[in-house]
Amino acid sequence: MKSQPRKIRVLIDLDGVVRDFIGGLTRIYQREYPDHEIKTINSRALETFFPIGERIYDFIDRQFLDEILIDSPPYPGAIEAMRRWEDRFENVIVTAQPRRWRYPTFIWLGKFKVPTNEVHICYRKEEVDGVALLDDFVDNLEAFQATGRLAVCMDQPWNQHWPGPRVRSLNEFYELVLDAIAADSNAF
Ligand SMILES: [Mg+2]
Repeated sequence: MKSQPRKIRVLIDLDGVVRDFIGGLTRIYQREYPDHEIKTINSRALETFFPIGERIYDFIDRQFLDEILIDSPPYPGAIEAMRRWEDRFENVIVTAQPRRWRYPTFIWLGKFKVPTNEVHICYRKEEVDGVALLDDFVDNLEAFQATGRLAVCMDQPWNQHWPGPRVRSLNEFYELVLDAIAADSNAF
């Protein structure tokens, strides 16, 4: 058997990067409360954007969890990019999910045929092996960058304070990682 060239291991977050959780939540919220106006979501404090306030957490966790998580759409082009680059990159999904969120999340990964061989459900992403992390949450990016590896931000309204590398698509992320590796090898 011909041996395969070693792939580049990259860590990819799910919500806010591949799965449009906010889009899925908003759609179901508007169905349940058609006359409520939702403000632009630019932080993790969801209670400030949905008119039901703190009850948004019960709305998610106790009322519509499976539906929100399983039916949230992927961002346009995200999964296609993962497939396109799969021969060069090992896509490792690294996502923080509360315990009950795991099951609908695994269904979502299968439902949309996300091309990955490895899924980590964990909060400490920086403990996972990989050359780069793509994430939308600044705390995760900071912790990962502190290990000396490439932390790349998926541009979202809630992470505008991240000063480091930023992309608007998965495709741009893969290109940025290849450029970073090329720049690194030229340095020696
Ligand atoms: Mg995220």
